[in-house]
This record gives sequence, C-alpha cells and structure tokens, in this order.
Amino acid sequence: MTTSVVWLKRDLRLHDHRPLAAAALAGKVIFLYVIEPEYWALKDTSFRQYRFLQDSLADLSSQCDHAGGSLTIRVGDVVKVLEDVAKTHGDIALYAHEETGNAWTFARDVKVRRWCNDNNINFTEYKQHGIARGSELDRDKWAKRWDAFMAEPVTAIPEKISWAACVSDNIPSPPELGLIHDGILHMQPAGRVTAEYTLQSFLNERGQNYRKGMSSPISAEDECSRLSPYLALGTISMREVYHAALERKTELTGQTSDDAKMWRGAMTSFIGRLHWHCHFMQKLEAEPELEWLPMARIYKGLRGDSSDADRLYAFEQGMTGYPFVDACMRYLRATGWINFRMRAMLTSFASYHLWLRWQDSGDVLARLFTDYEPGIHWPQAQMQSGETGINAIRIYSPVKQGYDQDPAGDFTRKWVPELASLEGKSVHEPWLADRDFNYPKRIVEHKDAVKDAKSKLWAIRSTVEAKRQANEVYERHGSRKGPRRRAKRR
Ligand SMILES: Cc1cc2nc3c(=O)[nH]c(=O)nc-3n(C[C@H](O)[C@H](O)[C@H](O)COP(=O)(O)OP(=O)(O)OC[C@H]3O[C@@H](n4cnc5c(N)ncnc54)[C@H](O)[C@@H]3O)c2cc1C
Repeated sequence: MTTSVVWLKRDLRLHDHRPLAAAALAGKVIFLYVIEPEYWALKDTSFRQYRFLQDSLADLSSQCDHAGGSLTIRVGDVVKVLEDVAKTHGDIALYAHEETGNAWTFARDVKVRRWCNDNNINFTEYKQHGIARGSELDRDKWAKRWDAFMAEPVTAIPEKISWAACVSDNIPSPPELGLIHDGILHMQPAGRVTAEYTLQSFLNERGQNYRKGMSSPISAEDECSRLSPYLALGTISMREVYHAALERKTELTGQTSDDAKMWRGAMTSFIGRLHWHCHFMQKLEAEPELEWLPMARIYKGLRGDSSDADRLYAFEQGMTGYPFVDACMRYLRATGWINFRMRAMLTSFASYHLWLRWQDSGDVLARLFTDYEPGIHWPQAQMQSGETGINAIRIYSPVKQGYDQDPAGDFTRKWVPELASLEGKSVHEPWLADRDFNYPKRIVEHKDAVKDAKSKLWAIRSTVEAKRQANEVYERHGSRKGPRRRAKRR
C-alpha cells in the first residue's frame, strides 16, 4: 500500500490543510517537516526566524500528539530524506502546498519534482494562497480569482488519519546551524492557539482604530493585526483569516453607530491588506529573479555593484544619527516586527539617503523580520527604492516622520536612550541642541542626500526606455483596480 507523505513548508497547521485532507483519504500518512541546514545558511535567514520555527514545530508536534499521531522532523536535504523515507516505507506519494519562497527554495522545489518524476512518485501540490502559477496567471482576472479562491470553504481537519510511524531526528539548536543570537528580546509567541487568539483579539477588541493606528509604531504595535509571523509560517491559513474578517464585517452591516462604522472601515482596510499579501507575492512567483534584479531592468546597477559597508553597518545597528530611524531599527532588532510605514521609511532611508542597494539593506531587514516572507519583502524593497518603474517615488523625511509618528518623542527616547535628556519632540533633532551627546552625528545631510538621489533616479526615469519598461512592468505585475485604471499603481 502506498504511504502518503505530506511535506510541510510554510503551512505548519492541521486546519485548512488540503494536502493533509487528500493524503488522509488516500492511506497511511507521514506528516513531515525537513529542517534544511543549507537554507539556514542563506543571507536572508536568521536566528529569530529559526527560533520562531522551532517553537511553531513544537506546537504543531503537540497538536499531532493530541490527534493521536506524530509530526516527523528530519534534518538534511529534502531529496535525500525522501529517498530514505521511500526506502523504509516502500511506495510513497507526495503531497504539499505550493510555496512562493526565495530563489533557493524555488530551486529545491524543482529538484524535488525532478526526483519524483525520475522515480515515478506521484507529487500533488495544492494552492494555499490566491497566487497563480505559470500559464494560469492573468492579471486582468487576478482579483476575481483571488476572491473566488478565498471564498471556498475552509478544509476541516480529517476525522480519521491513519498515521504511519516514522523516525524523527533531533532538532538542531541554533548554533548547530551556525545561527547566533541576534539580539531579539521580545519575540511574538508562536503556535496555533496564539495565532487564533491574535486573530480574534484583533477582530473584536484591538482593531477598531486600525486605519489610523497602523501608521505610528506606537499605536500599530497593538492596533495592527500582528498576524504576519503566523501567516508567514502558515500557523493559520490566509483563508481562515479572510473568512473570519468577512464574517466580522458582515456582522457589522447595517449598524449605524460611530463605533460600528469605524469597525467596518477597519475590516475593509484589513481585507484589502490580505489581497495585498498575495498581490505582492504574485510578483515574485511570476518572476523569481526579482530577489536580485529590479522589476524595470533599466535600474540595474543604479546603486553600483556593492553597498558602502560603513553605511550598511550604521543602518543595521541603528546608528545613523537620525534618531527616529535609529529608534525604529533598534525596536525592530529587539522585537522582530515593525509596522508597514516604518518598514517603508527604513528602506527609503537606506536606498535614498544612504544610497545602499536594496538587495543589501533588504537582506539586513529580512533577517530582522520574524515574519520574513520573500514574496512580499523583495517587491516591497524594490518599490520603496524606486526601481519598479511603475510606482510613485516616495522619499520619507526621517525628521518629519519622527514629528508625525512620535510627536511626544517618548518612543525615540526609549529606543535611543543616549538622547533621553532631550525633552519632548526636540529629541528628533539633537543637532539643534547646544550640547553634544554620546550619539553619532548625522551620517548624511538630509537635503543634499535627497537632492542627489532624485537627480540620479530621474536621469533614468525620464528616458523613453524607462517609460517603455514601465509599461511592460505594469502589464506583468501591475494591480488592476477596475477596468485598466492606472492612476494608482502598486
Ligand atoms: C520594505 C518592506 C518589507 C516588508 N517585508 C515583509 C515581510 O517580509 N513579511 C511580511 O509579512 N510583510 C512584509 N511587509 C509588509 C508589511 O509591512 C507587513 O505585512 C505588516 O507590517 C505586518 O504586520 P501585521 O500582520 O500586523 O499587518 P496588518 O496591517 O495587520 O495586515 C495583515 C496582513 O496583511 C498583509 N499585508 C499588510 N500590509 C501589507 C503590504 N504592504 N504588502 C503586502 N502584504 C501586506 C500581511 O500578510 C499582514 O500580516 C514589508 C513591507 C515593506 C515596506
């Protein structure tokens, strides 16, 4: 009898798991996660991501125990692990979700598929996000297909699973994979119950002021959903989140109080962000080269072949001399998360003020995000650096952002204690004070740096070839909001 191997990647759950449901119907099930040391040696992976994975696996393992089965964890190259499983269990069939990962996981998936073909092993892949593959991709129909896919029912945990016994390896400690502690102090707790609680508390308690609260790192910490690490590892599925948000929005329909209106607006914006998740990931799925090449190739080499090492280091350490930028970076280093606007500001500052390559600052940020999701991360990194050709150029003023998002200055003083003696908003411009601090001088002068960046960028952007490429990029990746609306491009 064929044994069904469910190969887990970014889908660490029992709920809404179509590969598991199909495998359970077919026969005995091995529920398999492979820790791949080569993956954990990549520049965009990190200690904090691995710690979050370890905790998520421990949680999934106890859920499996509870269901009378077990999670098999192996260490090594996936093809070798599968060879070994096939040797022990005889005939196997493989089931998995499609993954839009980085270039390394893309190449690994190709290897696994080839091995399955060469060995006559049935490999069935299922969608877990509203992302089209290969020839299925039609940007004009994309949004409708996303809606239809998400509207499908959530798959229940199979009532009966015949678990096959399979040996596990010991889970390597971070140092065994070459991962050293990276300064994370307050990581979000992992696991299914926490993910469900986070979703419910957002939808019913924390989310009312989402629209306004998402902009400042102070309010966003509580008023954003904080679901990103759970979505990145698939502790909870996008469809589960979508259904819950839609249900909450429906419940509010017809209610006329100001509170209800605010909640409804929050739900509409939140559901919009869930679309964005897949809209951005679709770009990397369609063009995996976007991890290192700009969407509009004319910008290739704009920022040279390598980044200035001192500037990159100052950026990474939160020592640029711009207090709000440094506060955001230090907060991210300590927590593994920061809100969207501040991610955009950090990238904009690295790319425009410091003129660093987004590939390099992007690796720094990827490592710091517990929720690192390559399909969102790389297209966003390019977009905030002006290299997609289709998006408006947005250069954030680090001082203005400080005044707007931390008007009392408390957040900045907390994370940049060297400036604790500066009162109120004066913390955002320590260079105006009549004394020195044990804190770096500004690494670049804002006005000069922005002027220089704009002139270099527009020298390309205003050419006929740049406009031609922008149209091509729009056809391939642009968001279609209504019939061919081009005014607002994402
Ligand atoms: C340079 C840069 C890099 C980023 N890298 C990542 C990343 O590696 N992983 C990641 O999950 N998000 C990334 N984002 C998008 C966004 O900042 C985070 O999704 C969000 O801050 C996560 O917090 P939340 O779950 O509370 O978000 P919420 O605002 O509550 O949104 C809910 C979910 O919607 C999706 N979402 C929200 N905003 C965006 C967006 N702008 N683009 C695409 N999807 C979105 C995410 O899945 C998010 O979890 C990046 C943004 C920028 C500017």
